[in-house]
Amino acid sequence: MTAAQALRQRIAEQARHCCGYCLTQEVISGVPLTVEHIVPQAKGGQTIEENLWLSCRLCNEAKGVLTEAIDPESNVTVRLFNPRTQVWADHFTWSGDRTQVIGKTSPGRATVVALSLNSELQVRARAIWVEAGWHPPK
Ligand SMILES: [Zn+2]
Repeated sequence: MTAAQALRQRIAEQARHCCGYCLTQEVISGVPLTVEHIVPQAKGGQTIEENLWLSCRLCNEAKGVLTEAIDPESNVTVRLFNPRTQVWADHFTWSGDRTQVIGKTSPGRATVVALSLNSELQVRARAIWVEAGWHPPK
């Protein structure tokens, strides 16, 4: 195993093979999650364990070079949720039917909007996963 593969494996285990933002599980989507830079490389983020986490392609693409976004409730610009240093459940919860991510805090709400965590197709997919008993991840 190369050093890069070992690093990817370590991060995948830390992230429990889920996207750090929408919690999509690699094994359900069948699409490998990507190793994302929490602080984007374009903004000086380094390829070191402390700056890496797992992300699905949708979240990674939507996040792009963003590090902050507007909280729709306060209209204040805040830092995006950091899946490595912050706890998902402190900042987000699921809707009653468990298909939508609800932001509980400023960073949570800003991240839901900026990363489009409730895109129509994702919500439809989650409804099927919920019915199958696969979602949300434990
Ligand atoms: Zn995601």
